[in-house]
Amino acid sequence: PLMTGIVGLPNVGKSTLFNAITQAGAESANYPFCTIDPNVGVVDVPDERLQRLAEIFQPQRIVPTTFQFVDIAGLVKGASRGEGLGNKFLSHIREVDAIIHVVRCFEDENITHVAGKVDPASDIETINLELVLADLETVEKRKDRVERQKKSGDKQAMLEHDILVRLQAALAEGRPARSVELDKEEKQLIKSLNLLTMKNVLYAANVSEEDVARADENPHVQTVKRIAAGEGAGVVTISAQVEAEIAELEEEEKKLFLQELGLETSGLDRLISAAYRLLGLITYFTAGEKEVRAWTIREGTKAPQAAGVIHSDFERGFIRAEVTAYQDLMACGSMAVAREQGLIRLEGKDYVVRDGDIITFRFAV
Ligand code: GDP
Repeated sequence: PLMTGIVGLPNVGKSTLFNAITQAGAESANYPFCTIDPNVGVVDVPDERLQRLAEIFQPQRIVPTTFQFVDIAGLVKGASRGEGLGNKFLSHIREVDAIIHVVRCFEDENITHVAGKVDPASDIETINLELVLADLETVEKRKDRVERQKKSGDKQAMLEHDILVRLQAALAEGRPARSVELDKEEKQLIKSLNLLTMKNVLYAANVSEEDVARADENPHVQTVKRIAAGEGAGVVTISAQVEAEIAELEEEEKKLFLQELGLETSGLDRLISAAYRLLGLITYFTAGEKEVRAWTIREGTKAPQAAGVIHSDFERGFIRAEVTAYQDLMACGSMAVAREQGLIRLEGKDYVVRDGDIITFRFAV
């Protein structure tokens, strides 16, 4: 499954945020096979379309789709040289699909800042530099190997070498690998390097409880936003502390508490949604009397592979998909009306599933 790693300097609020995530956790009933790593948190992906679909289908149960976070503590200055638990943590980051970088934007004299003061620009630079240095080493090692293959006239090696030179130049200037423009084929060629700075980043600006309603006025948040904009990265402002408190509340209390704070949705919900988009994920639905359920796929997934998320038999025996767009169903108010109006399409194996599609798969076993 797709996974987002939470990184950041010590004492910025990673564990607090991660605990909020695991507290809020997905209903374990929907997770029958969970022997989940303690560092992995599974959350339900909030999606108001599920409720609207449930009004139409009146199912016995509603099952949201889920999403995973992994807590990657221990990234410190010097990690790329093996300091702290350096290399081990870098290798954990290698395995995730995207990165959430928690940045401290709250002031609190009682909580030590590793660099002595709250300074998001410097914190971000410290972390990014470690990632860049680790990648530079990976790229240089690979380049040495490819250079030898290149001498024997290997075409592929020549192509790869050219890409590595460009990556090396960017990294040596402190720029992330994702800032280097590569086409699809080029990306594929270096995919196995699993470069840390190739992964998309979402900054989580961790603000204090007092600041959460008007986080935009916080100069630290402004700094994070400016840096993120320069990198083409996203920002979510969140108060890890508040989220930890919210996670312990019942649904109704939660709404009241958010209102008191002047918030519409919890930071965690915003973080989950943003991370979901960051990974290029979309949702389709299956719906009937028994259950209305959301499923996660990557953008661009075709119908058989989308069916495979439910069960590998669905993919193997795929015959066709009966598809209704969410907006069409909402406009019709029922499947019967949608059918009358010809809004249930029959789609074959080349159909690219769209966000919000309501699908019934036909398959042979
Ligand atoms: P980590 O080292 O990044 O995992 O940081 P922790 O989550 O352990 O947080 C470090 C300390 O900062 C803990 O004592 C938290 O209670 C505190 N902390 C985290 N978020 C906030 C916040 O928004 N405001 C304040 N005042 N303290 C926070």
